[in-house]
Amino acid sequence: MVIAGAISENDGNPAKKHKVLVIGAGTCGLRAAEVLIQAGCEVKVLEARNRVGGRIATTTKLGLPLDLGANWIHGNVGNPIIAIAEKAGSSYSIDELDDTIVFAPDGSLLPKRLGDEVVTKMWDYFDEGITYSAQNMETIKPNISFMDYYERKVAAEEGWGEERKAYQLQVADLLGSIVATEIRKQDFRNLHMEEPIPGENLFLSSTYGPVMDLMAETVLKEDGCLELNKPVERVETVQTADGGLVHNVYTKDGHSYTADAILCSIPLGSLKQDRVKFDPPIPERIRQSIKHLGYGSLEKTYITFPNAFWMDGPSYFIFLADPTASDRKTMAAISLAHIAAPHNQPTLLFYTHGETSKHITSILQFSTSPQESRQKILAFFQPYISRLPKYSASNPDCIPRGYVATNWLNDEYAGNGSYTNFPVGLVDGVEDVKVIEEGVKERRLWFCGEHTAPLLGLASVSGAYWAGEIAAKRCLGSFGIAEEEIVTA
Ligand SMILES: Cc1cc2nc3c(=O)[nH]c(=O)nc-3n(C[C@H](O)[C@H](O)[C@H](O)COP(=O)(O)OP(=O)(O)OC[C@H]3O[C@@H](n4cnc5c(N)ncnc54)[C@H](O)[C@@H]3O)c2cc1C
Repeated sequence: MVIAGAISENDGNPAKKHKVLVIGAGTCGLRAAEVLIQAGCEVKVLEARNRVGGRIATTTKLGLPLDLGANWIHGNVGNPIIAIAEKAGSSYSIDELDDTIVFAPDGSLLPKRLGDEVVTKMWDYFDEGITYSAQNMETIKPNISFMDYYERKVAAEEGWGEERKAYQLQVADLLGSIVATEIRKQDFRNLHMEEPIPGENLFLSSTYGPVMDLMAETVLKEDGCLELNKPVERVETVQTADGGLVHNVYTKDGHSYTADAILCSIPLGSLKQDRVKFDPPIPERIRQSIKHLGYGSLEKTYITFPNAFWMDGPSYFIFLADPTASDRKTMAAISLAHIAAPHNQPTLLFYTHGETSKHITSILQFSTSPQESRQKILAFFQPYISRLPKYSASNPDCIPRGYVATNWLNDEYAGNGSYTNFPVGLVDGVEDVKVIEEGVKERRLWFCGEHTAPLLGLASVSGAYWAGEIAAKRCLGSFGIAEEEIVTA
């Protein structure tokens, strides 16, 4: 990115640079800081954790790196993350992970063609629902969930027997891992806010790690710009003697900082909990919009084995919900053994959302020893593992060697959840996002993150990146730099 035209009144006088403080060093905060640094601002980034990346994080606990948060680049058309991933030398998987089999609630395998039809139909309903809600927002009644719409679609299908309809209804819960809650809780009127960036979904087999390294590069190179382990607790805005204003920012460890402008990129879940206090308080319209939007839960559990005993079969497994067991929701697992070398590993990735996520993370929270949580988590997934092709209880390759389960729900710096969603009853989510994104210009205070992204990027890494860029431009605008003067490359 090249910034044409610097901050005019300060040209050649670095001491008079505008001081901007960015709260949070996730994708959004890092991108915002990068744009501001390149425009000549004096930028300070305060990050609560001992690392950058926020909801992008990798672990090597099971050997090769694994993403604990984001793993996919959603939509490769016009997506800014693609260029960074290319520069980072990333590897992707697309088709390798598409070969699906579906297990019926009784554990039997659905015929391949039927399984594929059920899954394709689920995606068709989702896409049609997005289009319908975009075109009919004004006339859709409030308090209708996406599941209500989905059920009507299934009921209207002609020529399907009861069993076929039941499969179609059971598979629907998988979409909860897109919207980070049960789809019965997803508002139908606002479903169009889930529209993805166009193009293919790419699974970053080399993980987001190298991508994040590049995203953090500018900030890390800037002397003294980034401070880790600095949870911000309070932002106080005061008038100066000359009629201007200054922000005093206080961190948990008792330090304070001053700035001319604030970009607050903490998660929506943290804003909802007032994790950073503002004095004077943030305007009521923004508080209300923060309240209206939802904040969902999505967790990942990786289970690794001595060898990928399922290897000769498909790569994507769907287990339909068992109606006789309330804790046996529809589940999906991806085989990381199928991704191309050198990133392949004998590991399964299970996604959980909503109540199932709460169940898994409560095990992590309340177990009294690592052995207890290991035993309980592996026991939870065992009924799924035992259905996989070539599973045999007596084969040592079928005994898990280790696991990693994420715990975003208990992570206060992730806002105790995963990303923004749109709960039943939400009236106008687009307006709420706009209200938060516009911030408090007169106070030079902006909120940004995946929750303030342009519509197609909401709740994603790409959206967080765009949101950082937009907030930085708003901030530069308040210093008198017009949008046209900021040239992005
Ligand atoms: C399990 C999971 C899977 C996901 N999968 C995908 C995916 O495949 N593809 C995709 O595009 N997106 C995915 N997402 C969403 C994606 O990770 C987020 O949308 C994106 O990373 C958010 O970036 P952000 O900068 O808005 O927020 P964050 O990355 O959360 O950054 C906010 C930063 O603020 C810091 N912070 C919080 N409170 C304070 C404080 N008081 N003081 C200072 N710092 C503070 C946090 O530590 C954090 O570093 C996933 C998320 C999860 C949880």
